[in-house]
Amino acid sequence: MSENHEKTVECPYCGVLLSKPYWAHVQEKHPEEYEKKQTWISLFKDYKGMGMDDAVSLQVIGELFNVDAEEVRFFLEQNNIL
Ligand SMILES: [Zn+2]
Repeated sequence: MSENHEKTVECPYCGVLLSKPYWAHVQEKHPEEYEKKQTWISLFKDYKGMGMDDAVSLQVIGELFNVDAEEVRFFLEQNNIL
């Protein structure tokens, strides 16, 4: 596995730079957000607003919450966000 496209990801709640696994920080420091899938919607909208494309947004959210990007996609589709 190449580390070539490692990107920096900030915690969307407190702004610290995260290292992998990203979800460990969210789970430990922001347990209420971690439990709420509704959070995915606002994060996705934030990332879109920052100009991130859909695939990258789904990937980052998946990594923050320790779920597959496809699960994030499915949830957003169910909520008519995607
Ligand atoms: Zn945080």
